[in-house]
Order: sequence, then C-alpha cells, then structure tokens
Amino acid sequence: MPLQSARHFLQIPGPTNIPERVLRAIDRPTIDHRGPEFAALARECFEGLKSVFKTTGKAVIYPASGTGAWEAALVNTLSPGDAVLMFETGHFATLWRRIAGKLGLEVDFVPGDWRHGADPTAVEEKLNADRAHRIKAVLVVHNETSTGIASRIAEIRQAMNRARHPALFMVDTISSLASLDYRQDEWGVDVTVAGSQKGLMLPPGLSFNAMSEKALDAAKTARLPKSYWSWEDMLAANSSGFFPYTPATNLLFGLREALTMLREEGLDNVFKRHARFGEATRRAVRAWGLELLGLDPREYSNSLTAVLLPEGHNEVELRRVILENFNMSLGSGLGKVQGKVFRIGHLGDFNDLMLCGTLCGVEMGLALAGVPHQQGGVAAAMAYLAAENASQQQTARRRSAS
Ligand code: PLP
Repeated sequence: MPLQSARHFLQIPGPTNIPERVLRAIDRPTIDHRGPEFAALARECFEGLKSVFKTTGKAVIYPASGTGAWEAALVNTLSPGDAVLMFETGHFATLWRRIAGKLGLEVDFVPGDWRHGADPTAVEEKLNADRAHRIKAVLVVHNETSTGIASRIAEIRQAMNRARHPALFMVDTISSLASLDYRQDEWGVDVTVAGSQKGLMLPPGLSFNAMSEKALDAAKTARLPKSYWSWEDMLAANSSGFFPYTPATNLLFGLREALTMLREEGLDNVFKRHARFGEATRRAVRAWGLELLGLDPREYSNSLTAVLLPEGHNEVELRRVILENFNMSLGSGLGKVQGKVFRIGHLGDFNDLMLCGTLCGVEMGLALAGVPHQQGGVAAAMAYLAAENASQQQTARRRSAS
C-alpha cells in the first residue's frame, strides 16, 4: 500500500468516526473505580443513557463488544429449552440466532431473503399459532448492519399486542441507537441490546442492555447459567455507582462526553441528520444506476446503505481499489451477500461534506474498478443536500420572524 497522507475515511457502518471531544475526554489518567469520582461518572452515564434509549427503566453497561450484550439479554431472561422467535434478516440476526442455539434455546428462525426486515404480519401469525404460549421471547435486529434494512419495531410491537401474546420483546439496536428513531418504553421493548462503536460515536468496547420491569421480573426465574453477564450482580453494584468488576473507566469518560454531545444536538436533530445522509446516498446509488439491497422503502436504513454490484463484479475488488487510491474503508459484504454487496456507513459523527467526500470516493472507485455505472451520483447527492439545507434555513427564518 502506498503511504497515505491526511486522515483515513472510515466509512464502514461501525466502528464510526470518533469526535475530537470524545477522544479528548478519553485521553486522561484512569481514576480509582471504587472512588467517589468514579461513582459520579457512572451515575451520569446511567442517567444519560436513559434518554437515548427513551426509557425510565434501568440500563447496564458491560465492558464488552455487542456480542456480549446479545448473550446477556438471553441468559438473564430465559431458561434452557425455552422457545424464541427470530427472523433471518441478515448476518447479524443469524449470529444472534447461533448464540441462542448454543445456549440451548429452541429457536424458530423465520427464513428471510436478506432484502426485507422482520415482517410484523409474520410475527402476528406465529404468535397467534402459539396458543400454549411456548414462545418466551421475540428477538429482532432493528437495523441489520449487513443489509442496510431497518425492521419496523413499533409495528412489530403492535402485532404482538394484537396477538395478546406474553412473550418478551428483545431488540438489537447496535447500529441504530442514536442514529435512527428508537423508543424503548413507547414501543414496549423489554430488552434493548446496544453497543458503543456506532451511533454513540465511541471506540468499540462497551455494550448495553436496557430492560423493562417485565424483563427484570423474568430475570428472577430465568435459569440459563450466567456469571459475568448477571443483571442482578451488575444492578446491585450499580446502585451505589460501582461495577462488580473493573469497568472500562476511560470509555465511560468518552460515553459521558458523547451523551452530552447528543443532548446538545438533540436526538431528533440527530435522526433528521441521518435521514438526510440516507436519502442523499440512495439518490447517489440510483443515479449511478446501481441497485439498493433493500427492496421496501419503509425499511431503508439511514445509518448505512448496502449496494448490490452488477453480476461479474466483486465488492472485495472495488473496496481494495478504493482503499488503495483514496484511503477509504467501506463495509464488506457479509454472510450470504459476501462478494455481491458493499456498504457505505453514514452514521455517527458525520456531516454533509464528509458524505460528499465518501460518495466521491465511491464514484471514482467504481470508474477505476471498471464497474459499469453512470456518472452523476455525487451531483445528485449534492443537489439534494443543498436543497435540504436551503429549506431548513427557510424554516428557521420563518420561525424567528413569527
Ligand atoms: N448486532 C449488530 C446489528 C451489529 O452491527 C453488530 C456488529 O457490527 C453486532 C450485533 C455484534 O457486535 P460486536 O461486533 O460489537 O460484538
């Protein structure tokens, strides 16, 4: 690889770009994790997380990657042999399903084509058919990072309500939290799984469970073995601001700063910003004459875009050309879509010009790698972003005049 100047464009759909403010917050001496300064830090993090999950319930923080929080959600609420309902929306749903199987849960894995999210109608039918209430939990990945498809969580909750089924509802928000609209309490989610390295703009290394009262009740009788992941041990220590083991202290400094940044921008503005990036990127893809992996516009993800390459062209080669020529990393094709799909991450600490630079790298890369396409994707995105900015300014002017 030739020596690259200036900064690397990290446009994978997580880990994402880390803001300077967060880097500076992390870059300080570690403090005593059993002292009063730590307890104050931890309490601020627990409180701040609630507004991001939109819950009044409890949230725990693991010094672990997202996979740990997947396991924690299951072992704290379920017992060996329990039936769970899951949906094959992509690679990450498949990995979560594998963990459930390894833990001895009986998984009904509804097959999918990796081009749609979990279907609320299928949820309702499955639950209606389960008269004996054998299904103990419905598990859905909100934003499938391998496909750029976001399942409709509120509609899935409504389907569960219509079926009057008591199953717990668990949602993986690892690549949606703090990027896409998410409302744990309003949508009746019992366990939310999240990670630090995407919308929360932190390095990898922290993961989260946010739990409802119903989930905490289920934990009292759940019999799957657990130790490191035990909510009971974690919550007991957290009540005085501490952890049952050594926490990732410096990442918590970063988390506190990231939560402050999200509060300053306002979550709704964060979601609008990502919606703009999503739409601009989809316009670029269409202008290139390439195909989006997602087929249902109601399910387009605003945190990443997965693009199908024409037959005979491989994403590995395209990404190699783009990395070598433009110092930019794009997301690879994962699992069943390996080789066929590349992913553009546009989540986290990101703005319009970073998106334009990213799309420029893709458009030039398509040409260099000999992928058949039309020019004009970047121009289509720019026209949209400029129009959106103009309309926002007009709205702000009208508001200040009235
Ligand atoms: N779930 C989703 C939706 C993800 O995108 C990822 C990772 O990218 C995971 C789970 C697994 O998280 P981790 O790799 O942090 O263990």
